[in-house]
Amino acid sequence: MDHPPKQSCKLFAEGKCAYGQRCLRVHHHNLDPARRGDKAKGYEDYDVPNEPGKACSRCVQQLRPCDKEGRGGVDDPCSECRHFGGPGCKCVLAPKNTYNNVVWHLMINQPHFDHKLAAQRSRDEPIGRKLDKATGQSTGGNPQIPMPDKDVKPGWRGKTKEQLLAEDDLLPACVRELPRAYVVPPPVDENRKRKADFYKQLESSRSGPASAPAPMMIPPPPSSISELGRCVRATMDVVKNLVIYEYDTGAQITIPAQNPQTHPFKIARTNAPSAQNPAFPHPPPSF
Ligand SMILES: [Zn+2]
Ligand SMILES: [Zn+2]
Ligand SMILES: [Zn+2]
Repeated sequence: MDHPPKQSCKLFAEGKCAYGQRCLRVHHHNLDPARRGDKAKGYEDYDVPNEPGKACSRCVQQLRPCDKEGRGGVDDPCSECRHFGGPGCKCVLAPKNTYNNVVWHLMINQPHFDHKLAAQRSRDEPIGRKLDKATGQSTGGNPQIPMPDKDVKPGWRGKTKEQLLAEDDLLPACVRELPRAYVVPPPVDENRKRKADFYKQLESSRSGPASAPAPMMIPPPPSSISELGRCVRATMDVVKNLVIYEYDTGAQITIPAQNPQTHPFKIARTNAPSAQNPAFPHPPPSF
């Protein structure tokens, strides 16, 4: 496929898209909320765990089973963090995030994969590896290594690395095949929503009719300089963005167009107009 797939409609997945057939995004069959009824045989009652505070952040993100609950501080990490968290790992229960939410976001962001989830990676495969398209090999990434012993409390107990490596995927295969059947939309993140709304507004104010270039307006002359007389002509230098005001006393001032009311100015010409040299040959503007 040469072109990126059309964006899938997230609101459709949530059952909230109001555009129906007219929606410009894809209403992908595998995101249809009706697919909740398509659970695999034997998994009719299964849902991806969705209770916050039951697993550590790292395990939630990586969709690993977590035994942090009931343990102590960061020096008493879950088995996953102990053996694969590396230096600096801070194992704490995720206060809000859930396996359900992580699966949801993975699902939404997999349009090129028909909104299925890729197979679980091996625990000892480095994180963040890049696929070299020329060779088809993954390279780079950070190896998943144990937490340093000094960061772990003496007498720490948990599963061994070998036990973890032998464990099954947290998710049943049918979930990776059709995640939408086993997840519900995550709660709306108010912070994120506020930001999204702000940018949406900004975008619509840019692309809407209000964004059409404003008609060229010559600002009114400074109002505080009655000794100059009556303003009879105002011309705009569009290139330099300057306005030149001419007065019936012959005075002429030049001011940046943005702030003629406040910008300091110099009077450039004071020779009085004459009949041969009228300041304003046509009816003066109504300043
Ligand atoms: Zn839609
Ligand atoms: Zn954990
Ligand atoms: Zn952990």
